[in-house]
Amino acid sequence: MTNSNKLGLYIHIPFCQQKCSYCDFYSITAKQDVMDRYAKEVANEIFLLSQTHLENYISTIYLGGGTPSILSLNNLEVITNSIYKNFKCKVSEFTIEVNPSSSQNLKLYKNFGINRISLGVQSFDNNILKKIGRLHDRDMAITALEKAANCYDNVSSDFILGISENQDIISDASILLKFVKHLSAYMLKVEENTPLEKQINDKKVCVATEDTQVLQYQKLYEFCKENNFHRYEISNFACLGYESKHNLSYWDMTQYLGVGVSSHSFIGGKRYFNVSDINAYLEGKHSGRGQQLKERDYSYKDTLEEYIMLSLRTEKGLQISKFNELFNKDFLQEYQEKIKKAAQYTTLNGDWFSIKPQYFLVQNSIVSSLL
Ligand code: SF4
Repeated sequence: MTNSNKLGLYIHIPFCQQKCSYCDFYSITAKQDVMDRYAKEVANEIFLLSQTHLENYISTIYLGGGTPSILSLNNLEVITNSIYKNFKCKVSEFTIEVNPSSSQNLKLYKNFGINRISLGVQSFDNNILKKIGRLHDRDMAITALEKAANCYDNVSSDFILGISENQDIISDASILLKFVKHLSAYMLKVEENTPLEKQINDKKVCVATEDTQVLQYQKLYEFCKENNFHRYEISNFACLGYESKHNLSYWDMTQYLGVGVSSHSFIGGKRYFNVSDINAYLEGKHSGRGQQLKERDYSYKDTLEEYIMLSLRTEKGLQISKFNELFNKDFLQEYQEKIKKAAQYTTLNGDWFSIKPQYFLVQNSIVSSLL
């Protein structure tokens, strides 16, 4: 149930300069000595994991967070040296997430083999940026984008929809598309127990209604299409050839290793979860030491359903021959009745089964009807 012996490598850097009001990821502020210790432990976990993957090679690397760009260059060197020293590498894509407020080292990342920058821009509206607690403003975002586009061919940006009823999607997107080849556009989700949720409950802040979010998404979709950014996954748009290889491997269920606090791995049909506690992680409680605190054995059914769900998030959809090979089943026979019922929303074209583009935003309910 694996995709040859290539591996994606995700490294989680949990540090942020401050917490954004909508964020429920595991991220913390920390002093330099904690970050130094963390980089060493990540390097150690990489070494330990490499010992059980001697036959495998790393094909993509993603440094995500948190805010990886607040790591010092020394710490980045410690981590990347450990990757190159311990793993066989045929890396075609190496991404680092960068916030505009910590983008001073952009150019130097090339020295570590990084060839793709993902900038957390989110918006160009200063009121919106302030409302969601970002540290940068419009000018800083544009400066960082310019710098990134001057140094790297492959630049991506994150963009959030639905923060306000009056968000000027086209104005923001037209600035972004001048600099990037890839855009990840997320709908704002008000997560439980975040400062944003409290502000909304206290009626201090309003966000866009669901209907407005859908309209904003449609506007963005049309705009991207007109500008040759094709949508290859519900939240992701790219110029041809600039689709994120690393992310595609998640949707394709290629094996990947997660390193760092709160990361997870998908190996041999099993998911492994690292601890979500920095102190425990720094004490060496991580998957490299075989101390997965939580290992959820995915059943055959879980894996199969996840494959259907993830592949139907992509524009191409589910490849029937691949499904049949992975799960030793005949997709068309197995889901015959359900496919018939969902025919209005889906397309069956040769080896591919996909959701019609106009129904992408109700992907969840279409997938539920299939499972
Ligand atoms: S920078 Fe990203 S990870 Fe850090 S608090 Fe903001 S949204 Fe969360």
